[in-house]
Amino acid sequence: MARITLDHIRHAYGPNPTSDKDYALREVDHEWNDGGAYALLGPSGCGKTTLLNIISGLLQPSHGRILFDGKDVTNLPTQARNIAQVFQFPVIYDTMTVYDNLAFPLRNRGVAEPEVDRRVRDILEMIDLMPMARRKAQGLTADQKQKISLGRGLVRNDVNAILFDEPLTVIDPHMKWVLRSQLKRLHKQFGFTMVYVTHDQTEALTFADKVVVMYEGEIVQIGTPSELFERPSHTFVGYFIGSPGMNVLPAKLDGNRATVGGETLSLDYAPKAAAGAKTELGIRPEFIRIGREGMPVTITRVEDIGRQKIVRATFEGQPIAIVVTEDSEIPAEARVTFDPAAINIYANSWRVGREG
Ligand code: ATP
Repeated sequence: MARITLDHIRHAYGPNPTSDKDYALREVDHEWNDGGAYALLGPSGCGKTTLLNIISGLLQPSHGRILFDGKDVTNLPTQARNIAQVFQFPVIYDTMTVYDNLAFPLRNRGVAEPEVDRRVRDILEMIDLMPMARRKAQGLTADQKQKISLGRGLVRNDVNAILFDEPLTVIDPHMKWVLRSQLKRLHKQFGFTMVYVTHDQTEALTFADKVVVMYEGEIVQIGTPSELFERPSHTFVGYFIGSPGMNVLPAKLDGNRATVGGETLSLDYAPKAAAGAKTELGIRPEFIRIGREGMPVTITRVEDIGRQKIVRATFEGQPIAIVVTEDSEIPAEARVTFDPAAINIYANSWRVGREG
């Protein structure tokens, strides 16, 4: 397995890019740890597949280099990079048996037959296809075929990295959950370097130890699920992670005070934003307390979502969401307080750190 260095990578599909808008990837400059499980998460068109294809060698970046364990592989074709890939749709040999499909990548590399058998059986157990081992892949369901694809990605243990491009799209919801948990377990057990593309936050947050959030061709944050939740680096991460997303309100700053409309809130630090920057206050719906004390709000709707309720309200002319437990009382003349420790301040959409 390898450490992956993305050294000042930019990519434009068209010729002669001039502005940032011409780049599908603007500038990616990161190092990903050997044995890390990374999920690339972001909306359609943000550049996830472009980045994955640059890592796999299907695409040459317009600028920058990619290194595996310090070795420059930018100009190496996919076959020479020693990676396994699992795509959105199954890539398998229909005329081979399920067993032989899984054995193929190992036999191809001259692995001894007893070892092939041991690993194929392990994978068959994991993907729950042992009873079908001797059947031809032809005629299996899309779901079963994709499980074979996944298995083929996992069967070798000598690869630099395993790359997954939305591999669970064709899998039914229950099986999705099972496979995701198994992938996580396998990762813990074998320490594969995994890169997993998805636009589904649940998938990213359950699978990865580091989630790489992309937006408009940029990586806006790499963090653990709790970092993304508690300290979103960019307002986009705040909106995109969480359901409902973070409330982002226009705010004026003055020392350790923030003013939203006519209300002034005390902060537990004094954020320093550049003069003239657009400043905003971010607070997740889970950290707003509703009761008879605090700042007035007008409640517009209450949605019951099982053990919790989402309260939609207007605060200083801005729509906000508040999450409360199902048994919470919501007074007619409701007021709210924001937990100061959970407030994030943004300048031009980027978080202004507590660090100063
Ligand atoms: P999705 O989740 O829809 O697959 P994505 O995050 O993987 O999206 P990319 O497929 O990497 O995004 O696309 C990033 C940008 O590059 C988009 O604006 C897309 O239209 C553009 N793009 C992707 N492939 C090509 C191509 N072959 N030629 C020209 N433009 C492309």
